[in-house]
Amino acid sequence: VPLALQADSTLVDGALQPDLVVRVAGDLIESVGPPRPQERVTRLAGRVLLPGFVNAHSHAFQRVIRGHTEHRGPGDDDFWSWRAAMYRAAGRVTPEQLQVICRFAYAEMLAAGFTHVVEFHYLHHGPGGQRYDDPLELTRRVLAAAAEAGIGITLLRVAYQRAGAGQELSPTQRRFCDADPEQFAQYVDATAALPGLAGRVGVAAHSVRALDRGWLEALASQRGRPVHAHVAEQPREIAECLAEHGRRPVELLDDVGLLGPHFTAVHATHLGPGEAARLGRAGATACICPTTEANLGDGLPDLAALQAEGVALALGTDSHAHLDPFAELRALEYGERLRSGRRNALARQPGPVAPTLFAAASPGGARAAGLHAGAIAAGLRADLIAVAIDDPALAGLHGPDLLGGLYLAGRPGLVRDVYVGGKPAMVEPWNVSVAEVMAEFVGVSREIFA
Ligand SMILES: [Zn+2]
Repeated sequence: VPLALQADSTLVDGALQPDLVVRVAGDLIESVGPPRPQERVTRLAGRVLLPGFVNAHSHAFQRVIRGHTEHRGPGDDDFWSWRAAMYRAAGRVTPEQLQVICRFAYAEMLAAGFTHVVEFHYLHHGPGGQRYDDPLELTRRVLAAAAEAGIGITLLRVAYQRAGAGQELSPTQRRFCDADPEQFAQYVDATAALPGLAGRVGVAAHSVRALDRGWLEALASQRGRPVHAHVAEQPREIAECLAEHGRRPVELLDDVGLLGPHFTAVHATHLGPGEAARLGRAGATACICPTTEANLGDGLPDLAALQAEGVALALGTDSHAHLDPFAELRALEYGERLRSGRRNALARQPGPVAPTLFAAASPGGARAAGLHAGAIAAGLRADLIAVAIDDPALAGLHGPDLLGGLYLAGRPGLVRDVYVGGKPAMVEPWNVSVAEVMAEFVGVSREIFA
């Protein structure tokens, strides 16, 4: 029986519209319109139907370090001390543990309303860099975890060559490194041939710190796939880039030919004059990870400059200090308010700000993922979530203000039904298998942080 969903209202063309029926055929939305006579529909009473959120930047294994880095060390506590703690987990995780952690992170994402994740996957090899019998062992573990949880995934194989210009790799960093760009490209092709990915494979430059110019130029030959890179997250990265190349990170990425509509700059926190314009001219996307950037003390990106240059925004939860799309929406807008001293800072014109925020979370993310999804319209992938509005947090709200209330006061617990490619992906709110997934995760967490 084809799926036909009718919620109280449905987000179409940036506005909530009452009583529409969304018809699904296979994994696609077939049509959206008023109910037909005698039509059998699944009523989603007391709910609004939204496109699923896309988590456009994830390192799923970092879910295991949540809470374990929240104490001040002896020196200045900053991004780099956090990274040292993260490396302790990255250095010891086994393939079996990786699958358990990722499965739990992906289940938590689904329950929060993320129907698709872009996994920025850089943990490739064994401890110290030794090769597994199957060089794609850890890639397969991540993909198996996504399939078990039921979330859609775009897998980015991350290129990592060096600790920084002239710096020695640590044993942990050796897990991230392929031998050379040719071997990297072979692994990308082999990943793209794995079942279940539907071609959703991309590449990433870990950062301009981790790759020399030759590697960056080689990555430009992967145009046609999604290409992501961590960009200008930390001032130190920019200082090192200027010292090595006499160019800032976005300038360098532009010079080597990596920018384009397929490109996503992750963070884009500390851009210099003209760098937002370069991203805009290229038709690139900027993926902001507001709660992780706040957790790490990265700084606030100049979103007004990115918007003015026509750079599309996407959202990611990155380190998974939180897994809550509503918290990311709030932090995106509130960060810009705190930076600019203005309210409704991301609204492009007079009117509600919420549609711009939800656009970052769904169509912006889908663009970064190379996915034909992100809106409720015929022909797009049927990634959908039903969100409860008969909740005290949203009492008294309807019409356009309901979307505003959702981003201000929404929370993962309001997400009741999730459809990934037209298939129900979870039983509300947490099913028994998720409890098992969590119990396994707790076991692994204890092993790693014993
Ligand atoms: Zn990241």
